[in-house]
Parts: sequence; structure tokens; C-alpha cells
Amino acid sequence: MSLAPLYVTRPSLPPFEEFEPLLREVWASARVANGGPFHKRLEAELAAYLDVPHVSLFANGTLALLVALRALGVDGEVITTPYSFVATSHVLRWSGCTPVFADIDAHSFGLDPVAVEAAITPRTRAILPVHVYGRPCDTGALEMLADARGLRLIYDAAHAFGVRTNGGNLLRSGHLSVMSFHATKVFHTFEGGAIVCHDRAMKEKVDLLKNFGFKGETEVIETGINAKMNEFQAAFGCHLLGRIDGEIAARAEIAQRYREGLAGISGVELPADMAGVARPNHAYFPIFVKAAFPLDRDGLYRHLREHEIYARRYFHPLISDFSMYRNASGAAHLPFARAAADAVLCLPIFAGMTAGDCERVVGAVRAAAARAPKVAASDRVVPRAASAAT
Ligand SMILES: *Cc1c(COP(=O)(O)O)cnc(C)c1O
Repeated sequence: MSLAPLYVTRPSLPPFEEFEPLLREVWASARVANGGPFHKRLEAELAAYLDVPHVSLFANGTLALLVALRALGVDGEVITTPYSFVATSHVLRWSGCTPVFADIDAHSFGLDPVAVEAAITPRTRAILPVHVYGRPCDTGALEMLADARGLRLIYDAAHAFGVRTNGGNLLRSGHLSVMSFHATKVFHTFEGGAIVCHDRAMKEKVDLLKNFGFKGETEVIETGINAKMNEFQAAFGCHLLGRIDGEIAARAEIAQRYREGLAGISGVELPADMAGVARPNHAYFPIFVKAAFPLDRDGLYRHLREHEIYARRYFHPLISDFSMYRNASGAAHLPFARAAADAVLCLPIFAGMTAGDCERVVGAVRAAAARAPKVAASDRVVPRAASAAT
């Protein structure tokens, strides 16, 4: 029996018939680029939905990060996390900054403020943390540190769409927050991104920078770039935004099924819920495969692939393990990030996932827990069938 492949995520694509009138509107207006009506509408709707003062849309999250760094004039050393998607460090190098890695804390998986403080040098200019899996960093401590040391604080909030916290709004912390609307994210515009700005002056600056630095028709006042979102993406964003609470609620149901299904499996640990999060976005469903499980993490990863379940090891390898970062400052000693990278497996989760899909994943994990031979870590061998599948 061959089962349909189950990928770690599938982009939310609401019924095309409902999107079609918006597409026709773009087509009829012939305004397909350069901040047309849907671009403006999505910026306003997102600002309202996210409860932030201003949103500036981008072609993707990576360009949004680059522009955020430029807008704040960041140069020199920037303390960042190795436990992220590689774009987080790449934008620093593309901006001429020097990434300095600091370790994460084992609860939020975000930068540990104590480790950040220890990594500060006279050349440090900024901190670039990530709200990993949509779990908020210790924003209070990071903000205090940034204020005390005169550092810029830019959050990579690519995973944090729709996360609601009890005290302040997560996206209002720091100097800027940057989102990704890539198809693999909770809210998406196929590709896309945004910068959350706290005031109008910053919004204007960011808007200039994403459009070559143009102010009006003939004046160029910044060394800008082209990073604008087009109208088709923006129209799709307006369409999806109306359904996003339902999409997040569907993810919450899957997460609950997983929690019940995986309960009591020795060696499978789930991260504890974070205090202060009123509504998680369930962007990912990370599990941690510990020594008590009969397979190591990569063994379980391969076992699931044999069952056409494509879980992902976010974030393994660490950014600091890629060749171009191996010699970066801080890269050699990141024990908590390494422990997470060695144990984590993100299971499939997306709004269209059925209860049956969920049972299939749980069943495959339970089968591995029950049947795999107990071997000492040092004796572990890769079963031939499993290595052929990778
Ligand atoms: C997705 C992602 C990005 C990059 O976003 P793109 O829109 O794909 O350019 C940056 N940082 C993190 C943590 C991400 O997950």
C-alpha cells in the first residue's frame, strides 16, 4: 500500500473561486506593481489585524530583513542566533555586518539574554533574535540590555504571525520586527514579507528603501533597493487574511491531537507551553527525540520518511555549522543550540491536515518506539533501507 506523501507543511490555499474576483480586479485595473490598491489595503488590514501602528510589505522576508538593518543604519557586530533559518545570518553578511553567535535558552529556543550580554564587545551595534516556532524570546530582558548598551534590537519574527501574548504585543517590542509571508509560513502571500514599524517616520523610510530610495518621481534620497510586494501577492494576502483565524484554529486542533497521541512515549518530549502566550500560532510542531527513545533523531526522521512522512529537522544543522559561518565569533561554543539541533524533529502541521493524517504520524512514531531495537547510542547503525530512502 502506498500512501500519499505527507510534507511538514502545505500552503494555505483557500478556494480559488473566492480568490478569482480579486484577481480579476487586479487584471482590470492594470495596476500590478508599485504599491497599488491591494498593497495599500493589505498594509492597512495587517496593521489592524496585528494591532501594530504600521506595516510595510515586501517581496520576501529576507529583503525585509536587509531593509530593516539598512533603515536602522546597523553596521559592525550583530549578536544573533545559530538556531534559525540561514537567512537570519546571511542578511548580516549582505549588509556588511559581522554576525556574532550567542546561545539560546532551552525553553524559548530564542537568544538567551545572558549569553547575549557576554557576547557584547565595543564593536557590537545590534541584536537580531528570532521568535523560534512562534515562541516569544525574552523580550523584556533583551530590551533592557539593548537600551542599557545603546544597541539596536531587530526581531526576526518570521515564525510569529498571529501569536498573541498576555502583556504587550510581541511585534511591538524592539526597534523593528520583520515577518516572512513565504508559502511555508502560517500566513503567506506565496512569497512575501513585512516590516512592522512603530511610527510614521520609520514607515516612510522603509517605504523609500524598498523602492530604490525614490521620494516622488524624480528625487532619490536613499540608497534603496527593489523589494516591493506585487499586487497579485497583496490581493492573495487580503483573501487569506480573512480566514487566518480559522487556519490557526485548525492548526491548534492538530497540535492537540498530536499532544494526546504522543503522550507517554518514552524519549519523545514536547516543549512546555510558554507562560504569557494567550494564543500560540502552531506554526510548527517540534518534538525532541531523547536518549530514552530507541532510535536517535535521525533514525526516527528516516523511519518517518519510509512511511512517506517528511518531518523536518528545524534547525539542524545550526547556521554556525555552515562553512561560511564556522569561524564566526561564538560559533564554537553553543551547547543549548547544539542540543536542540541534535534532538529536534518538526512534525507535519498545516490547516488542511486531517485527523487521519495526524493518526498516521502518531502511529508511525509509536511503531518506531515499539519495534526498533534498543541499542546503545554508540552502536547505532543506519538500517540500509532507511539510508536508501534519504
Ligand atoms: C522563512 C524565514 C526567513 C526568510 O523569509 P523569506 O520570506 O523566505 O525570505 C527568515 N528567517 C526565518 C527564521 C524564517 O523562518
